[in-house]
Amino acid sequence: MGMPRPAKRPSTTAPERLLSALATGAEKLIRGPGWPDGVNTLLAKLGEVTGVSRVWIFQTIEVTDEAIKQDYVFEWAKDKPVAQLGMKCFSMFSSPLDLPEYQAIVEGRKRGELYAVLPRQLEDSWLRQTLWDHQRILAMVTVPIMVEGEWWGTLGLDDCEHESEWTEAEKDLLRTAAALISSSLVRRRLSARLQQFSILKNMTESAAWSFDINTRRAWYTSDLLDDSSQGMVSTDINGMLALLVPEDAEHLRDAFRHSVEANTPGFRSDVRLAKDEGAKWIEVIGNVMRDESGTPTQISGIAVDIRARKLREARLTQQAETDALAGCFNRHAFEEALESEYGQAVTEREPLSLLVADIDLFKNVNDTYGHPVGDTIIRWVADQMQKACRRNDMLARIGGEEFALLMPGASMEDAYSAAERIRASIATVLAPTDAGQIPITVSVGCATLEYPRHESAISLFHEADRALYAAKRAGRNRVRTAR
Ligand code: GH3
Ligand code: MG
Ligand code: MG
Repeated sequence: MGMPRPAKRPSTTAPERLLSALATGAEKLIRGPGWPDGVNTLLAKLGEVTGVSRVWIFQTIEVTDEAIKQDYVFEWAKDKPVAQLGMKCFSMFSSPLDLPEYQAIVEGRKRGELYAVLPRQLEDSWLRQTLWDHQRILAMVTVPIMVEGEWWGTLGLDDCEHESEWTEAEKDLLRTAAALISSSLVRRRLSARLQQFSILKNMTESAAWSFDINTRRAWYTSDLLDDSSQGMVSTDINGMLALLVPEDAEHLRDAFRHSVEANTPGFRSDVRLAKDEGAKWIEVIGNVMRDESGTPTQISGIAVDIRARKLREARLTQQAETDALAGCFNRHAFEEALESEYGQAVTEREPLSLLVADIDLFKNVNDTYGHPVGDTIIRWVADQMQKACRRNDMLARIGGEEFALLMPGASMEDAYSAAERIRASIATVLAPTDAGQIPITVSVGCATLEYPRHESAISLFHEADRALYAAKRAGRNRVRTAR
């Protein structure tokens, strides 16, 4: 009697059954219960149709030059004695990579290659001991599960009953099963990302958008525009930018262009939606995506509702610029405006005038009626001056009972007549206070920009101030110009 002929696996004789097993498994994995139940169904189908002892998945945890760490995560076993899932030696276990044969297998798996072996025919080594002496595997075939180009894990068949070579049909079956598992993993990752994104979206009240540089197509989620509508709007780049105030759309276009050209990864830009007359501010946060050659392919990101922030900023700016007592601008705001209006007037060769007004003999008012009544009068004077202002004029309280009126575009004559109007409007009526009606007068100094004689904004201011003191010296309740 010679050696018994090696027994044949059932699958080697009925390859067409493999296809139907795969179809059922795929159905369960992709359209049915998914992960992990779909995986278990698929493994069971593979096991039943091939007649092997075990179908398994090792997940690759970590690969270094010296060792590989894996975890036994799925298994179908023909019967109890061959089951290995849950065994300590297979959970989060490390294998050394010093054996060249095993190293070659691992390298092949990293590249996505199938590996088939009859362990008893291996040279005596650690690998043979593990597969044959230890696990009694007569035939094994494995194929890596590649996810997004990475070796995620290994799908394998162990046959402990038949020592027969693996057929091409069996190998194809395994490759296809690995591809199915991989696509299911990709889908899981994708849906996990979408879920994370939707959490982020809700937390930040943001909308998502994307723009394809090649096709110039764009899409955005509509939730930022209209709280009642939900969903995705598909348009082109102009359609997307048309949502914004035209000026801001240009800024955003520049930001796109700049981050594409300057090779910066991302950008942020505050823009106003055209709807609601620009009352709605959003911050557009974007990112340029590039292909392997570095060519930009897509710009996408989120848009965050920043109305609250803009309101807060506006309120803070207003607070920082406002005089709490008189309600007009404060000295700091005046100084900044004077500088910028001076620069503008010089470069554009436009007229610019400045009035400085000071309440006459105000110490007496305070002494006679008390400080609170003095405050009321300061407010009243501010109101009288404000009434005499044109739209572009800027009134500021620059000292205790001293005001400045910056008049862009105003000639010497304009300024003088405004000053005279202010003086008269105060001198000819009585200021209403808790202490009764009080006669108040102001003195006003005027200056009009003459460039280059006024070599700075400050020199214009000093001239108006000198004119004010000339008015005081001349007897108060009057207007004086600088020259
Ligand atoms: P002149 O006509 O020369 O301007 O005489 P004046 O008394 O107004 O003199 P001056 O401008 O030097 O005095 C300003 C006074 O204004 C001094 C101060 O007591 C008073 N004052 C300054 N700030 C305030 C304020 O916020 N509230 C009140 N009630 N008084 C103020
Ligand atoms: Mg005074
Ligand atoms: Mg004063």
